[in-house]
Amino acid sequence: MSDRELYCDSCEGVVPFEAPPCVDGHGADCPELVCTGCGAAVLIATFAFPAPRVDHRRGTTRRPHRRAA
Ligand SMILES: [Zn+2]
Ligand SMILES: [Zn+2]
Repeated sequence: MSDRELYCDSCEGVVPFEAPPCVDGHGADCPELVCTGCGAAVLIATFAFPAPRVDHRRGTTRRPHRRAA
């Protein structure tokens, strides 16, 4: 249904993950995904589905420079 391909450390590659039967009553909002390759459960926040390639070079370090006395 809603398979997502993610990188699995155990499988050492990108494999399809799928939502397991939720026993916590999350229903469709369950943030849990399980690797279909090795069966390792992976918890993922609902907002953690960015584009496959995230640009890491986004000038996000915009904190004011504070000098430690
Ligand atoms: Zn759940
Ligand atoms: Zn795996």
